[in-house]
Amino acid sequence: MVLPPADSSRLLIGGKLTTGGGGEFVTLNPATEEAYGFAADADKADMSAAIEAARSAFDSTGWSRDHAFRAHCLRQLRTALQAEVEGLRALTVAEAGAPVMLTRGPHLEGPVADLEFSEKLAESYEWETDLGVAAPMGIRSRRVLQREAVGVVGAITPWNFPHQINFAKLGPALAAGNTVVLKPAPDTPLCAAAVGAIIAEHTDFPPGVINIVTSADHELGAQLSGDPRVDMVTFTGSTQTGRTVMINAAATLKKTFLELGGKSAFIVLDDADIGAAAGMAGFSVAVHAGQGCALTTRLLVPRASYAAAVDAAAAALGRITPGDPSAPGTICGPLISARQRARVERYIDIARTEGGRIVVGGRRPAAQQHGFFIEPTLIADVDNAATVAREEIFGPVLVVIPYDGDEDAIRIANDSPYGLSGAVWGTDPERIAKVTAGVRTGTLSVNGGVWYAADAPFGGYKQSGIGREMGVAGFEEYLETKLIASMA
Ligand code: NAD
Repeated sequence: MVLPPADSSRLLIGGKLTTGGGGEFVTLNPATEEAYGFAADADKADMSAAIEAARSAFDSTGWSRDHAFRAHCLRQLRTALQAEVEGLRALTVAEAGAPVMLTRGPHLEGPVADLEFSEKLAESYEWETDLGVAAPMGIRSRRVLQREAVGVVGAITPWNFPHQINFAKLGPALAAGNTVVLKPAPDTPLCAAAVGAIIAEHTDFPPGVINIVTSADHELGAQLSGDPRVDMVTFTGSTQTGRTVMINAAATLKKTFLELGGKSAFIVLDDADIGAAAGMAGFSVAVHAGQGCALTTRLLVPRASYAAAVDAAAAALGRITPGDPSAPGTICGPLISARQRARVERYIDIARTEGGRIVVGGRRPAAQQHGFFIEPTLIADVDNAATVAREEIFGPVLVVIPYDGDEDAIRIANDSPYGLSGAVWGTDPERIAKVTAGVRTGTLSVNGGVWYAADAPFGGYKQSGIGREMGVAGFEEYLETKLIASMA
């Protein structure tokens, strides 16, 4: 076990584990509100040093051209992470409030295993394509298309699925030959710092190829997105912060890749089993206390079945008891912070003032004296213009909205600034196909199908983002295209 004790986390800069110029900052266990550990607090000079290390590693080593070596380093990383998985699991539960059940899948072991997809792409990708001979403007020319790394990538990530999001950026960015500065969220610094310690002690990544800079200061994200030595920013977080990242990146016209918020619709067609579908919608919004950007937080049901759907969703949500994320049966742990809980409570209050009915939940659970818990909550009797139907809440809160006919369901689903994900439940394949064609969103689940996988691109339409993460499309986000034409 090489995981650092929680009170000695370090930055990874230029291949060395170092303390932060800002000292340390405390991280809380969101299930207990107790101090869990101390993270190295980088200052602007540390961030600048990390960017310089990444720049130098890109410009003066063979990293970006040695595809087999990159696959080797990524394989070492995956193997080392797998050897440390129990320590990482405990850390992820304590720091992110991740239900331990989910660490066996999307919270930890899934994304670690998915690094293999990037390893294989580094080895097998067609880096060069012969376009053949043509005679543009009468000059016979052989054209060769080359794909190569963008350069220094600044990766800025949120707290909700720290490993999944960190690895979904590190894997493809590194496999493509870039060097990286990762700035994780201040709420989950230790999850990233643990990976930094593993990289430093168990892998052959050359110094500066990966730099991990934890800080309590959000401004370091702005610094990273604006620095002229950085060629590309890959960001996951809120739509509001994504706009700021884009503005800061614009000064040097960096390539900008954004995975942002969502307000996805779960459409139940009138030929579906309404009770089963609404029950599934209720259950899924409570997973990890609703802290998932792609969760379907608007349940759209035929008007004639509204009461039945409300009852079924309420029953499903009411059965879920928020609790200790380290308990094997917990699916709904705490929210990440007091700030996040206050945000969720504010939205529940807004729903009340706008005439919404809190059918179930809406309070802090009586059984939890400590921790940032909130009851899974169902809001009915609002339409799609309500604040809680338009804005991302990022908590276990579902809004039920009636519709009149399939076209109306599609219209309501699309009446949102977001377009990240969605679900459709029904029995008639033709009607389902019309709905999936009509909804403007990056991923859709039909009757419970799972779209998340290493080879499946994920991302948003509209204000949910620009670009795709995962899959070959996600890897290619981190590549430039060079065309070389020689007289033939
Ligand atoms: P956030 O936008 O507040 O912070 C995300 C990251 O940006 C953090 O590391 C933060 O320190 C950094 N940051 C803050 N201000 C910055 C600035 N001015 N410039 C650069 N970086 C800055 O988001 P959050 O509260 O940590 O995470 C929740 C949000 O993330 C939700 O809106 C959720 O939908 C979104 N999210 C999206 C996806 C996706 O793939 N689409 C996945 C997970 C989370």
